[in-house]
Amino acid sequence: MSGISAPRGTKDILPGEVEKWQYMEDIVRRVCAGYGYREIRTPLFEHTELFQRGIGEATDIVEKEMYTFTDRGGRSITLRPEGTAPVVRAYLEHKLYGSAQPVRLFYLGPMFRYERPQAGRYRQFHQFGVEALGSQDPLMDTETILVALTIFEELGLENLHIELNSMGCPQCRPRYREGLKDYLKGRLDGLCSVCQTRYELNPVRILDCKEDACRKELEGVPEIGDYLCPECRGHFELVQRYLTSLGRSFSLNPRLVRGLDYYTKTVFEVIAPGMGAQNAVAGGGRYDGLAEECGGRETPAVGFAAGMERLLLALESQGKELPLPRELDAFVAVVGDSARTMGLKVAVALRQRGFKAAMETEGRSLRAQLKAADRLLVKHVVIIGEEELGRSAAIIRNMEDGGQQEVPLEQLLEAPERLLLQKISD
Ligand code: AMP
Repeated sequence: MSGISAPRGTKDILPGEVEKWQYMEDIVRRVCAGYGYREIRTPLFEHTELFQRGIGEATDIVEKEMYTFTDRGGRSITLRPEGTAPVVRAYLEHKLYGSAQPVRLFYLGPMFRYERPQAGRYRQFHQFGVEALGSQDPLMDTETILVALTIFEELGLENLHIELNSMGCPQCRPRYREGLKDYLKGRLDGLCSVCQTRYELNPVRILDCKEDACRKELEGVPEIGDYLCPECRGHFELVQRYLTSLGRSFSLNPRLVRGLDYYTKTVFEVIAPGMGAQNAVAGGGRYDGLAEECGGRETPAVGFAAGMERLLLALESQGKELPLPRELDAFVAVVGDSARTMGLKVAVALRQRGFKAAMETEGRSLRAQLKAADRLLVKHVVIIGEEELGRSAAIIRNMEDGGQQEVPLEQLLEAPERLLLQKISD
């Protein structure tokens, strides 16, 4: 028995790795704020109905992927598998439609899906996303696409590519659905078993199937573009025109459908090349029908979500290194009992002055302390030994160039800036 390990499909993010996450999160917050989006934090679990109603019963998440349990009060609870339905629930519950519209929100945090774990697929994973609620303007669709692109570009991803489609609206999608079903009727036997069940419940999802058999049956399938009503067509053309006016290239992909039923009109994915089949770093679109499905008033809205683990993989596959962990400014090494008390004072003084400082606690030899400090990637070691203490002094060792100098303790306590910021070899 090797003790308890983390549950299957979950991952610890350890120091050394966590700095990459913090870097990514900082960029998300900064870019979102730059576009006027404000952060919202919703609970990690919700009433199951929110996702059953919000996502649509025939989508993959509801079919098999939800972490659902009954709590001690006999209520059915689900760990959130995605962020959009909770944001819409919060918008309705807190009557955010009463404030200036549109309401621009972003979120960032863990999501939970009971999936078969594999490379890049976890049961607890992380997403960030934006949701703009209360606007049907195609400029808003364009804006959310730009937010996604800006974040990815600031992270250093290259050769990003936008795929666009329109999924129509309750006026035109049913006609397409019928057209699609007519086309597939004679081809059902050739579809995979999942798509055979999708045929009745959610045939549009079949377009997205990655199985070779299904892809083959789909050659020559009718395209939704030919079924769009004038309003959806006009909306879609404007989104394209706005993107073009900014010099953003995109390709139209009539097979692009989002897994969730509540999408209307624009759907999009941002693709990072070089990652095989799992190359979408963000997916989103317009979901004008969701608020009503959640029992609220009609609310046009658009947004996207991006998988953060997937983003890190995309950066890695493009050979991009996120900046290294921030270094500690100082490690206070102490030798002897009275040096420990003085070291404590020095460490506190350094932190009060805004320096990041750690201190020796284990009573190790100086050599061992220097080695430990080296591993922590510190810039300076402040050495306080019995001898130095006798002279009311300490030694500052620059770990980058090995230079050392003795300094009065008083100066270290009162004005450490000069000592730690200057280059010792100067
Ligand atoms: P979705 O909400 O399914 O549209 O997914 C949006 C983003 O979340 C995509 O970039 C996915 O890579 C990511 N994602 C979805 N499911 C998982 C998972 N189980 N593990 C890691 N990332 C995921």
